[in-house]
Formats: sequence, C-alpha cells, structure tokens
Amino acid sequence: MMACYFDEHDCEPTNPEEQYRQNALLELARSLLQGIEIDVGLYNTSEWDQRLPPPAAKGIVQNLPMVVITPAQAEKGVKCPVCLLEFEEDETVRKMPCEHFFHSGCILPWLGKTNSCPLCRLELPTDNEEYEEFKKDKEHKKQQKHRLENLHDAMYT
Ligand SMILES: [Zn+2]
Ligand SMILES: [Zn+2]
Repeated sequence: MMACYFDEHDCEPTNPEEQYRQNALLELARSLLQGIEIDVGLYNTSEWDQRLPPPAAKGIVQNLPMVVITPAQAEKGVKCPVCLLEFEEDETVRKMPCEHFFHSGCILPWLGKTNSCPLCRLELPTDNEEYEEFKKDKEHKKQQKHRLENLHDAMYT
C-alpha cells in the first residue's frame, strides 16, 4: 500500500517507520473515502494522546475557503493528497489553513471524524470542550517546561 504511494511520488522514504507514521492519517482518510468505518480511538476521553482528536468545529468546516484551480496549478499536476487525483483546471476545491488543497468529498468526511489536516497534521479548532481544555493544558505544561529549562540554563551555565 505504502509502496504505491512512494512510487507515484518518486521518492524513497528516508525512514520507513517515520514515513509510515506521517502517512497514517492519509491512509485513514483514504479508508474513510472507501466507505470503511475508521476507528477514532478505543480509549476514554482522558487519554487524548492515545486517540485521534475529535471532529473539527462545524463552523470552521463550513467556512473553509473554496478555491478554483488555476491553469498553472493544473499544469503543475497538483494532486488531492487523499485520493491522489490531479486537480483539473476550474475545479473548485477546499483550502485548509495550512494551504493544502483537497476535494470537498475527500476532506469533509474526514473533518467530520477528526480535526487535523491528513497531510501535515495541522489541527483545526474543535467543538469539544474537553479536548480544547486538554490542548490548552498540554500547551501550558510545555511552556512551563521551557521556562524551567531556561531558568536551569541561566543558573548553571
Ligand atoms: Zn480527492
Ligand atoms: Zn496541511
């Protein structure tokens, strides 16, 4: 499965395991497209690290910009990362905040499951308060750790 992806993109994965992890979301998004119900996590909500984040906020999804593929983009052979079909000139597609383009039919069902770009994992806001709390908390802990490390460096170097 992964082999065809790399063949098409004409590049060798530097580290297969790392590459697999990077593409796991895309594989999931493809499964969803094929009508396979994906498993978004077996764990309870206190273990967000162990599962896919909740769906993207409905308001955000509804307002995802729609852009029309230009002749130059069609010429370049820009592909939808999920179905790997090249976009056609004048085709209307969805643009994620990370500047990645997808067919509506490829990205909308996915965002109804989980909030991140399947290509780069950029997260969109969600309507799930518990998850948003979790994210804030995680960010806070990260900042705290940074602060302590900086303090440590200032004192001991
Ligand atoms: Zn597509
Ligand atoms: Zn992206």
